[in-house]
Amino acid sequence: MANRILIIEDEEKIARFVELELKHEGNEVEKAFDGREGLEKALSGHFDLILLDVMLPGLNGLEVLRRIRLEKDVPVIMLTARDAVMDKVSGLDAGADDYITKPFAIEELLARIRVALKKRGPVEVATHTLTIKGVTLDEDRYEVKVNGDSVELTNREFELLRMLMKNKNIVLDREKLMNEVCGYDYIGETNIIDVYIRYLRTKIDDRYGIKLIHTVRGVGYVIKES
Ligand code: CA
Repeated sequence: MANRILIIEDEEKIARFVELELKHEGNEVEKAFDGREGLEKALSGHFDLILLDVMLPGLNGLEVLRRIRLEKDVPVIMLTARDAVMDKVSGLDAGADDYITKPFAIEELLARIRVALKKRGPVEVATHTLTIKGVTLDEDRYEVKVNGDSVELTNREFELLRMLMKNKNIVLDREKLMNEVCGYDYIGETNIIDVYIRYLRTKIDDRYGIKLIHTVRGVGYVIKES
């Protein structure tokens, strides 16, 4: 993670130690030793993350945070004294992403930095589509297509197909499928699953001439990838 990190901390030993660790992890680091200098650097430079001590000379950390937040959305982790509950609450209220209590283990700080950076990282557009043998199931759009052709399924047929596709190559027994598809409070025969499987086969396997859903006798069903 080659990130630019600003440390605003008046205890130079702590600042120096954290700086070394962060540099060791491949980050670029800048330091400020009082609130005013820290605020100035925070506002004038580009940083991927700011470590901000609460107890600072000049301008305290909470005030620095408030002023940063007026202009910037950079992730901020507050460094607070042990048991300073009010500082933690105020810090989070003022827009801190996280806080860590001094004294802290460097591993914990590094872990929290990673989390804060990840949260603010570029938004990944998750695509929830599964495709097997030309059958594509889109979880977001609640759509199923076979070779680009839309297939109309009922909710339960869709859920059943989704379960089988998500667990491809794994044989699922009727009870498990029933719990997932009908809900755990469903009272009825497990052969309801056989009925839905038959509907799915009619709509997909038979209609498009593919062998998608396999029966495992005495156990349940499986969709095999190849
Ligand atoms: Ca301090």
